[in-house]
Amino acid sequence: MKQETSNTALILNAIAFAAHKHKDQRRKDVEASPYINHPIALANCLANEAGIEDIEVLCGAILHDTIEDTQTSEQELIDAFGINIAKIVVEVSDDKSLPKAVRKQAQIDHAAHISVNAKLVKLADKISNLRDIIAFPPANWDAERKRLYFEWAAMVVANVRGTNATLEAIFDGLMANKPA
Ligand code: ZN
Repeated sequence: MKQETSNTALILNAIAFAAHKHKDQRRKDVEASPYINHPIALANCLANEAGIEDIEVLCGAILHDTIEDTQTSEQELIDAFGINIAKIVVEVSDDKSLPKAVRKQAQIDHAAHISVNAKLVKLADKISNLRDIIAFPPANWDAERKRLYFEWAAMVVANVRGTNATLEAIFDGLMANKPA
């Protein structure tokens, strides 16, 4: 990462990088929204709802699904954005070689041990996902599947509490929408 790169230039570089990596992916909602809407929503929530200005956190949010969901290596992120941003992305990435149930439990356990910067991204990710499930749910998700997702998200968030009061309050407010 070049030292003279301005924060604005770095953010735009991260958005362009993530947009390219996610270009063929869609979200699970009925209208199959472009995937990039999701990482942008995370960064927007962190900056404009929680007032977070840390460039590494914001870039980490924009890039947070590149390792897990696209053909992107840690080294590629280090070369383009530096070790600190790459580290955040690695910290919030699931090991996709694990079976789904194991991976879900691993995310709960792992969340307690990640850095504060990664916890901020994790909180914004769960906020964004709950908002999408509330407003634009996947077509094939019934109330039970939604309820299970809410409960799992709450277990992940329980392990990152004490990180940011604003984000945690937003998350707690969204939990009121959990199906009975
Ligand atoms: Zn995500």
